Amino acid sequence: MSITGHAKLAGIAGWPVGHSLSPRLHGYWIAEHKLDAAYVPLPVRREDFAATVALLPKLGFRGLNVTIPHKEAAFALATEHDEAAKATGAVNTLVFEDGRIIGKNTDVIGVIGMFHDAGITTLAGKTVTVYGAGGAARAVVFALTQLHASQIWISNRTQSKAEELADRFKGRGNTQIAAISDVDPLRASDVLINTTSVGMVGADHTPEPWRSSDFRKDGIVADIVYRPLETQFLHMGRAMGAKAIDGLGMLLHQAVPAFAAWFGIEPKVTPALRTYMLEALKGD
Ligand code: NAP
Repeated sequence: MSITGHAKLAGIAGWPVGHSLSPRLHGYWIAEHKLDAAYVPLPVRREDFAATVALLPKLGFRGLNVTIPHKEAAFALATEHDEAAKATGAVNTLVFEDGRIIGKNTDVIGVIGMFHDAGITTLAGKTVTVYGAGGAARAVVFALTQLHASQIWISNRTQSKAEELADRFKGRGNTQIAAISDVDPLRASDVLINTTSVGMVGADHTPEPWRSSDFRKDGIVADIVYRPLETQFLHMGRAMGAKAIDGLGMLLHQAVPAFAAWFGIEPKVTPALRTYMLEALKGD
């Protein structure tokens, strides 16, 4: 589709950025809505990020997604933050508006959307174990509190980070949150969610932080890793009879509020979009 000199612009800044599926995702919606717009990959080194954020609004960009290694810098450069960014201390989306730089964390909406797609609109009364305590885990834990999970256990290779994450969200709503070590009774969890990079294409897979005895036949397993779509974690959960939720839903749903903020249209996450995105994941 062709664009004019008035095209609305946005993109994703990362280093590297070539693996990102976001240009394909936003490109789908731009074409669907026949917008005069473009969403481009921007390979930006760490040392160039601040200068890039200063320049892009002057070039007409509406905003940016940010990925590794820019999420912390994006938080620091934002002149204001939405509630999710404040709560998580992490930003994955910038909106440039009238000289302001608004930092958003749309991953939280991504996680909530991923559960909604699986028919889960509340986790009230449920115990959830979160594996991992990195940047994405913050969005996951915040989303779980928004879904009213009753108890969240956080298990991480580096225990101190699990404790920091638990402390960050303690006292929110009625959710009880605690860091656990591997001797704790994970089997009591209704939902297990992997937020580590274990299982991701190209990542170190061993040792896996979970055991087959962690999985419950009547439970739910969710993985935010989506390359490959069917991770070993999901495979183990399914093999135990659990309901499995893959990470593509989070990717699709986190993009919705960003697209709406930049281009003024709230796009839909549809089965056709999911099929289109799955084509790009074939062969992982
Ligand atoms: P991060 O900040 O680097 O955190 C990585 C986490 O993985 C940490 O908890 C780390 O533990 C743990 N980990 C790494 N290798 C491990 C191993 N061998 N054994 C046990 N734990 C290990 O990364 P992130 O930004 O949170 O991203 C994590 C994953 O989520 C990535 O695969 C990313 O692609 C995915 N993600 C998906 C979406 C989506 O839209 N679906 C969005 C964001 C991220 P330590 O603290 O001990 O190092």
